[in-house]
Amino acid sequence: MKNIKQTIFKEAVNQIISNKMLRGMAVKQLDKYLYTSLMSMGRAQLEQEKLDQYAFMSSIVKQARKNLDKGYIKPDVMKKMAHVFVGDNYSPDRHQKINPIKEAYKEKYGDYPPQFITLSPGKGCNLHCVGCYASCDAAVAEKLDFETTRRIVREARDIFGSHFMVISGGEPFMYKSDGKTILDIFEEFNDMFFLVYTNGTLITEGLANKLAKLGNVTPAISVEGWEEQTDERRGKGVYHRIMKAMANLRNAGIPFGISLTATSHNAEILLQDDFYEHFFNELGVTYMWQFQLMPIGRGKDVTDLMITPEQRVKLYKQWSHLVEEKNFPIADFWNSASLSSGCIAYGRWNGYFYIDWNGNMMPCVFVPYYVDNVKDLYANGKTLADGLQSKMFKNGRKWQKEYGFENPDNRGNVLMPCSIRDHYKNFKENILTPDAKGEDEEAEAVLHDAEYEKMLEEFDDELQRLTENIFEEKYLKKVPEPHEA
Ligand code: SF4
Repeated sequence: MKNIKQTIFKEAVNQIISNKMLRGMAVKQLDKYLYTSLMSMGRAQLEQEKLDQYAFMSSIVKQARKNLDKGYIKPDVMKKMAHVFVGDNYSPDRHQKINPIKEAYKEKYGDYPPQFITLSPGKGCNLHCVGCYASCDAAVAEKLDFETTRRIVREARDIFGSHFMVISGGEPFMYKSDGKTILDIFEEFNDMFFLVYTNGTLITEGLANKLAKLGNVTPAISVEGWEEQTDERRGKGVYHRIMKAMANLRNAGIPFGISLTATSHNAEILLQDDFYEHFFNELGVTYMWQFQLMPIGRGKDVTDLMITPEQRVKLYKQWSHLVEEKNFPIADFWNSASLSSGCIAYGRWNGYFYIDWNGNMMPCVFVPYYVDNVKDLYANGKTLADGLQSKMFKNGRKWQKEYGFENPDNRGNVLMPCSIRDHYKNFKENILTPDAKGEDEEAEAVLHDAEYEKMLEEFDDELQRLTENIFEEKYLKKVPEPHEA
């Protein structure tokens, strides 16, 4: 039965890519398939979570179709991507029991492996963004040597059975080690699919054509809002360079996305539909990832940039509207947790973990604490899988199960999914372990900062107050108490 379903799925994807005449019909067929597959998933998933997942998947298919119709995505590029990504990586069946590598991992470690790793191989960057940690001098910036980078990617594929990896930075297209660049990784691992977070400024016509030839890379370009906000943070003229990069990607036929950090400065822009309409309808963006600023650091500058609990709730409503009604494929790291049954960090099944340019293994890009370092693991004859067995990672996975996807009768509030941001007290008391170290001085310092702790806990209390009714009525289907007259 599973094989028949997979065949229908792959066949519909092929029709959408290759056959313009039948594309409309194939989209309908795939949409129906996604709906029935997602809605028939187990009871651990709340019905509204399944509906949110369907709306998101459906919006990806519809947006990809629009961009194929407009010629912004070339069928031959998409075919290669589908072969690697759709063929091997995606299945609405989340446990993917057909993958023997994942089954072997479960047999050995008791749980399914993570779906992907976010890897930042180098800290070097060519821009000087306000407040960014990356280093401008690529020659001296911290980085992983090429062999270590290569081994991480190989282990992700061969030990976790993963065919998808996120590359972040610094600026990934600046990475160079032992005469090799990140393109050498893409070329060698041509059975894997890579999403690259990039500032976009190095995507020339030549690079776009190379990526099209490789067919296993999609760039997600960072913007801060409109031209004014982007140039204010990233430097004058950067928005124009991004527009040029997008034109190069459209001409080469590569699907691309945007990524954006929501702050108090751009929250109002993000609450307007015209921003999304411009990027999706006019610039040919295929997906958007939104993050919300995680304040790591003290000082008023950082806390002032954080969005308020009220803004977060408004952004949640805006996200629902954009995905369900406008069919824009957008995922917001804190507001879209219904897409993944909660927090995906700590290397959980169907989730991920993060490795930085020093080789430190962290639960998530927003949880800047590590116990194991990849280079040390390798020097001691161990693998990435050993790093996932630290007490901190296990504590995180235990919390995720209890709070979320393995506790169907007592689900935690899906609008407050973040293990660190939304449950800071619990993070410090029950997840973080004494052997964990901060990624940098700021991360270390906030652990001993009572004011910072108080600020986050007050945020969490207020967020709980503002979201509990939404969660209960929309997700738990509880009927609201009548108000007293
Ligand atoms: S720790 Fe927070 S930001 Fe990271 S995956 Fe979990 S919910 Fe998302």
